[in-house]
Amino acid sequence: MGCSVAWHLAERGITNVVLIEREQQLATGSTGKNAGGVRHQFSHPANIALSRESIDMMKHFEARVGVPVDLHQDGYLFLLSKSANVAAFQKNVALQKAHGVNVQWLSPQEALAVAPGLDMAGVRGATYCPDDGVADPNGVTQGFAKGAQARGVEIVRETEVMGIRLERNRVAEVRTSRGSIATPIVVNAAGPWAKSIGRMLGVDVPVEPERRHIFIAQPPGGGSWDDPAYSNAVPASKILVIDFESTFYFHREGKGLLFGMGDPDETPGFDITVRWDFLPKVIEVAIRRLPALADAAVSHAWAGLYEMTPDHNAIIGPSEDIDGFYCIAGFSGHGFQHSPAAGRVLADVIAGRDPKFDLVPFALSRFAARTVRGEANIV
Ligand SMILES: Cc1cc2nc3c(=O)[nH]c(=O)nc-3n(C[C@H](O)[C@H](O)[C@H](O)COP(=O)(O)OP(=O)(O)OC[C@H]3O[C@@H](n4cnc5c(N)ncnc54)[C@H](O)[C@@H]3O)c2cc1C
Repeated sequence: MGCSVAWHLAERGITNVVLIEREQQLATGSTGKNAGGVRHQFSHPANIALSRESIDMMKHFEARVGVPVDLHQDGYLFLLSKSANVAAFQKNVALQKAHGVNVQWLSPQEALAVAPGLDMAGVRGATYCPDDGVADPNGVTQGFAKGAQARGVEIVRETEVMGIRLERNRVAEVRTSRGSIATPIVVNAAGPWAKSIGRMLGVDVPVEPERRHIFIAQPPGGGSWDDPAYSNAVPASKILVIDFESTFYFHREGKGLLFGMGDPDETPGFDITVRWDFLPKVIEVAIRRLPALADAAVSHAWAGLYEMTPDHNAIIGPSEDIDGFYCIAGFSGHGFQHSPAAGRVLADVIAGRDPKFDLVPFALSRFAARTVRGEANIV
């Protein structure tokens, strides 16, 4: 998010910008841990709009930003078993279509045809958007970072933001572990740590970190999922399949098969140690949907942090309490894919341009006012 805002500001001629990163490398927070999924299939019109603009930018990323991002539009397939979810997703399909998304309602048999190898027991229907897909989060981040730097933005690493000084309720200075920077504007793009930046100003930024695991599976005996033996056992494409009720999902990733699932017992916290005792629970659910995983070897795993807001929608825009304080955080597990459009919108707001985007659903003030509905289609 930080790199996207910096790139878009620079594109608007605003290059007097410093991007501050605590770690040695960029994209080692949530962005470095994510599954790379990009989808149009959201339940909230504002998220559909962010997806349309972002995926379109990813399609032209190399030409516009100069770095390839390995976008594969092999689709997302949501499998639905409960009648309440069938009804909700049928409504979503109508909404997405009304917003120009190429999405289809599929019977279980039709779903099996796009993703061979699935066990469809209990599945009542599915939604499929062939324009969804997967891309490279590191490529997107580095592309924005390099492009911003080339236009004059400064990126400082291994530097921690420690405090923000105000003058008459306006941002005046950022204090870091390597000295202070005078500035009238601060953008909080601290992902799962966004709350701690807000706390420096006494502003409640309700973003909670939540650990999520990703596992990589290889076929038994060191073979390849491309071997003819697996042609009907796993999809040949990089289609991302989600069993919506359990949140188990997978897609092909390099030579392996990437999969994950939310843990209903997880509590908020910054710990990203891999809990190997969680793997058997995931496998139990996974093999019911993708039997090929029963004999697979899990070669490695990692965990990262979702950045959850109470309504699972992001916070994008200015604080109403502090002049010069902006947020772009709390994307609740779908931020990689929205970074191009979200960064563009916030850069327009900061530059004083009309973003041509209704930011009400993403306003920080909504949590106190409890005025808007959130995103239901999270994984
Ligand atoms: C397992 C997993 C799977 C996911 N899958 C997907 C997916 O398929 N598709 C998708 O769109 N999204 C996915 N996400 C969510 C996505 O990764 C995030 O929404 C997104 O990366 C958020 O980006 P960000 O820039 O806000 O946060 P981050 O990438 O975390 O960046 C915040 C940065 O701020 C820095 N920082 C924090 N505090 C300070 C400080 N005080 N001083 C200096 N620097 C600081 C951190 O070091 C970090 O680099 C997934 C997340 C996880 C964990």
